[in-house]
Amino acid sequence: MAPRVAIIGAGFGGLCMAIRLQREGITSYTVFEKGATVGGTWRDNSYPGAACDIPSHLYSYSFERYTSWTRRYPAQSEILGYLEHCADKYDVRRKIRFNTEVATATFTGTAWRVTTRDGAAEDFDVVVAAVGQLNRPHLPDIPGMSTFEGVAFHSARWNHDHDLTGRDVAVIGTGSSAAQFIPEVAKRARALKVFQRTPNWVIPKPDAEFGPLARKAFRYVPGLQRAYREWIYRYAENTLYPALARGWSTDLLRRRALAHLHDQVKDPELRAKLTPDYPPGCKRVVIDSRFYPALTRPNVEVVTEKITRIAPQGIETADGRLHEVGTIVYGTGFRSTEFLVPMKITGRGGADLHEQWRDGAEAYLGISVPNFPNLFLLYGPNTNLGHNSIIFMIECQVAHIMNCLPYLAARGPMEVRPETMAAWTRQLNRAMERMVWGAGCQSWYKTAGGRITNNWPGPTTLYRRLTARPPARAYRFG
Ligand code: NAP
Repeated sequence: MAPRVAIIGAGFGGLCMAIRLQREGITSYTVFEKGATVGGTWRDNSYPGAACDIPSHLYSYSFERYTSWTRRYPAQSEILGYLEHCADKYDVRRKIRFNTEVATATFTGTAWRVTTRDGAAEDFDVVVAAVGQLNRPHLPDIPGMSTFEGVAFHSARWNHDHDLTGRDVAVIGTGSSAAQFIPEVAKRARALKVFQRTPNWVIPKPDAEFGPLARKAFRYVPGLQRAYREWIYRYAENTLYPALARGWSTDLLRRRALAHLHDQVKDPELRAKLTPDYPPGCKRVVIDSRFYPALTRPNVEVVTEKITRIAPQGIETADGRLHEVGTIVYGTGFRSTEFLVPMKITGRGGADLHEQWRDGAEAYLGISVPNFPNLFLLYGPNTNLGHNSIIFMIECQVAHIMNCLPYLAARGPMEVRPETMAAWTRQLNRAMERMVWGAGCQSWYKTAGGRITNNWPGPTTLYRRLTARPPARAYRFG
């Protein structure tokens, strides 16, 4: 009998899992989705200017080539359209329970009991958690935040009812999200103050619309989409990855970013503010061509003084200035190291997943956790990339889980062996040593204790090989 599979989340990961099951003829699955539509992070992040800095043809499933991409880098609305298209084409939408948030998952010895916030409970053989790494907004802990008398919101919960035209606005944060919405806010606001704590390395995003000829070619020339995708993938793997591994392209990346800064920012004082003092790639490199020009507008000021307090009328900085604003946008990122929070996941013998992960989340292949049989994670610990498409990683993970299903169906619940997990962690730590992420910067890749729990330190080709290995030796059964 086919296993009963609970999938948590209907973003890129959850949909991929559902589609693979559906295509293999396994229909005994349910997708639990807390929101009202598919899309996950691409549904939540609807801020003006939201787009992806990975090219459209690579930021999509390998099995579902798409002829509707209108530009090299997809806008958020296009990605959502793509995911809606996939949900319909593969007929998985009817298996999704929308507005249904999973509260707990408990292993009973033979099955997983999944309960939802509305109090319902159901048993499954397998749980696939596909909730992503960037699903819970991080709001900073700045004194006085609650006293602010204007309108404040986080970039992933954009207040579309609040028109910014003619207003005095503050943006806190200058990561990839802020870099995308700052140009849009700057166009509308009367005055915009950008509060930057740490500058980022920024490289250009060579975006362009596909002309009618290119779109026709992608539609009608056999193999063109596949070849284009392969080329982008290889390019990222062979030029960007070595920069993150402190290899041959490290200096190239730095020079590219500095040249971009010099091209776009002529004022030496502003340029100095925007020049990072840590190696490129240590924090996620921002890929954007509109960010710097927005910062040079006459109505925009980049403030680098430390924020000391939020006052009813605005933001106070360490130099004693009060920056009066009526709107604060928090572009302050996500609670990225708190994997699977706020769900309560209880494994064999009452093991609590978050207790087990108190020093940082870890999982074999980023997928399986000792003491949690038949629980699989998509985009789990140490599977994020700083250089290539996460969809590639998700497809590797889904393939691994599909390989596991016949084993667990035949031999009972499967759980990664403790010695496999220990060897995995050792190898991961060793590989991590050469990566640039440890080079003296703070980032969302790390826990407060400095452990890098989010990123995959190898080439993605290696990850594909490791996840494709037959699973029997890594797991124990029953
Ligand atoms: P982020 O990269 O974590 O950036 C958060 C920003 O807020 C940083 O500039 C940070 O400064 C600042 N910040 C946080 N707390 C602060 C405080 N208390 N005071 C002052 N500043 C504070 O978050 P994000 O921009 O939302 O991006 C997160 C990730 O989402 C990206 O790295 C990327 O992987 C993904 N993303 C991808 C795309 C895409 O096109 N593919 C687009 C958007 C986002 P510090 O640097 O000093 O900590």
